[in-house]
Amino acid sequence: MHYVPRILVTGGAGFIGSFLCERLLETGAEVLCVDNFFTGRRSNVAHLMENPRFEIMRHDVTFPLFVEVDQIYNMACPASPIHYQFDPVQTTKTSVHGAINMLGLAKRTKAKILQASTSEVYGDPDVHPQQEEYWGNVNPIGIRSCYDEGKRCAETLFFDYHRQHDVKIKVARIFNTYGPRMHPNDGRVVSNFIVQALRGDDITLYGDGQQTRSFCYVSDLVDGLIRLMNSDDDVTGPINLGNPGEFSMLQLAEKVLELTGSSSKIVHKPLPQDDPRKRRPDITRAKEVLEWAPTVKLEDGLRPTIEYFTAEISQLAS
Ligand code: NAD
Ligand code: UDP
Ligand code: UDP
Repeated sequence: MHYVPRILVTGGAGFIGSFLCERLLETGAEVLCVDNFFTGRRSNVAHLMENPRFEIMRHDVTFPLFVEVDQIYNMACPASPIHYQFDPVQTTKTSVHGAINMLGLAKRTKAKILQASTSEVYGDPDVHPQQEEYWGNVNPIGIRSCYDEGKRCAETLFFDYHRQHDVKIKVARIFNTYGPRMHPNDGRVVSNFIVQALRGDDITLYGDGQQTRSFCYVSDLVDGLIRLMNSDDDVTGPINLGNPGEFSMLQLAEKVLELTGSSSKIVHKPLPQDDPRKRRPDITRAKEVLEWAPTVKLEDGLRPTIEYFTAEISQLAS
């Protein structure tokens, strides 16, 4: 009989996790989605419930989890600044205790485990674009530190479990990702700008708007994650996954206004503390090792995202 792999996705009811669950089910795998629903929503995976190979479990990864699996995608962690700063201690616990528990689970079951790390490990970078060799410039005691340092410590744990216990690890450094199923009140720039433009509210541009980000459409990102998981065992990463197209936040605001046909005004708000000035991935390694590169241009990814938010907003209003 054909062997069906059992795959655990922590944070599987979140934005990226839900697309990942969907794609993994399409490959014929059994998928166990574990989520505490802090920022994730049942509605993100409601369409998967009918699938007999899909299972969902409410659980917080800061507590031990005993299940039998072949692969683990550790996606659990709030990703938007307003959410990860809401309960910063829980954010650090999610990254650190969550990593320890999932690595303990991987050690016992001999499962391969992939960590959703982040470009935030580079902090406010002195090197541009960011390569994996760069160690980063992170404030250890600021308001972003619970997220940045939590993710950095998780990377340390991954490499120590690999060296000390031979756990098969994969570390993906994910750059800003966007698409449908982002939470409308998520507070991240793409969701904020689109929701504001659609409602005719002011577009809140923080600082002078010259800071840059590089935005990857979610389908490209999920493709990269699955390629990384299925790469040879000696490929541990870290590997940058992101779209190298770099835009200032002012350019993004203008693009959103153009695509929505909105007449919202752009207003300036204070730049949050420790906000990175620029960010762009060097994806040479992903190209070479995974034969992966993003295919969706910002404009082409913004259109379906705007469609999704249009439907979401009309539902909220009714
Ligand atoms: P998200 O907030 O939509 O998803 C995170 C999910 O984790 C949610 O479903 C949430 O309920 C769940 N979760 C949080 N704490 C948990 C806990 N203690 N136990 C169990 N579940 C918990 O965010 P996302 O954008 O889908 O991000 C997914 C992962 O990718 C995160 O680890 C994030 O750090 C990483 N990442 C995302 C981006 C991005 O731009 N979206 C960039 C870099 C890294
Ligand atoms: N753990 C888990 N599921 C398992 C195996 C371990 O949640 O299937 C947890 C376990 O409770 C421990 C952590 O993972 O807190 C680390 O496990 P490890 O075996 O590395 O450490 P130890 O149990 O020796 O402290
Ligand atoms: N930003 C903005 N207006 C908003 C939300 C965010 O100008 O309404 C800016 C923010 O200051 C940052 C960039 O957009 O420079 C990306 O912010 P986000 O929170 O999406 O992601 P991160 O800072 O974690 O990359």
